Amino acid sequence: MKAVLLLFLFFGASAQAKSVIVSFSVLESLAREVAPPSVSVTSLVPAGQDAHHYETKASDLVALKKADLVLSVGASFEPWLPRVLRSQKVKAQHVTLTQGMDLRKGGHHGVDPHVWLDVQKSRLLVDKIAQALQQKWPELSKEIETRRSRFSNELLALDQEIRQKLAGLPEDRRTVVVAHQAFGYFAEAYGIRFFSPQNLSTESEPTAKDVARLIRQVREKKAQVVFSESLSDQKILRQIARETGLRWGGVLHSDSLSETAPTYLQMMRLNAETLFEALSSSSTSSSGGEG
Ligand code: ZN
Repeated sequence: MKAVLLLFLFFGASAQAKSVIVSFSVLESLAREVAPPSVSVTSLVPAGQDAHHYETKASDLVALKKADLVLSVGASFEPWLPRVLRSQKVKAQHVTLTQGMDLRKGGHHGVDPHVWLDVQKSRLLVDKIAQALQQKWPELSKEIETRRSRFSNELLALDQEIRQKLAGLPEDRRTVVVAHQAFGYFAEAYGIRFFSPQNLSTESEPTAKDVARLIRQVREKKAQVVFSESLSDQKILRQIARETGLRWGGVLHSDSLSETAPTYLQMMRLNAETLFEALSSSSTSSSGGEG
């Protein structure tokens, strides 16, 4: 009887033990689409917190020790993660999803990690997530492939939707200011120019010199609207808006999901809508305290 119970506990436990830990909320959304229901997907950095700098909690360490697979962006997006994996002697396989991807140059780390803001690049992330899951659990391969293929098609449709929406903006209404340089891939994919007081990472605060440079750029390039990001401090952006007379365009999402954008698809759709609304409006009085 005892043996039967132990056997039951063993198989019961291992049946629900398939665990993937991802670094932040955007990857969680992508991985959930690909992973079958028998695989749990958990994010270390919760939605609403900044993955550029994060302090792991005790519960994160417990989760990492139980994990089968750890997925991260890499390219110095989560500089704290390799340290934690080493110091905690985490045994789970760690897959860095941007490895081998064609990355934009720039920033003090040399490359720009924000690939997910180009939906086509997110399709590559999704392919890599599927590969990692299939290698880990070959018995789920078929199910994973079905899910990957369906979601990849949804992403393709989203990419076309964003392209079509923003294609309607005239050439002189495509320049904006955002909090940090997260939108380089978005800029290349969808033809919007972004300037920001802060670097590719939010690890360092913008200096007075950064702000002065930006105000100069805003005037030279004739930017139209300033957006805050869901994780950013609005103070400097408000100052820039005041000094340059730029309109306040609302909030864009770059490095985290939120209550208003709880999935990747919703986040990208909301970004495109927010940009389009602000840039297509000719009014100069749109200001608000959203955030
Ligand atoms: Zn960022």
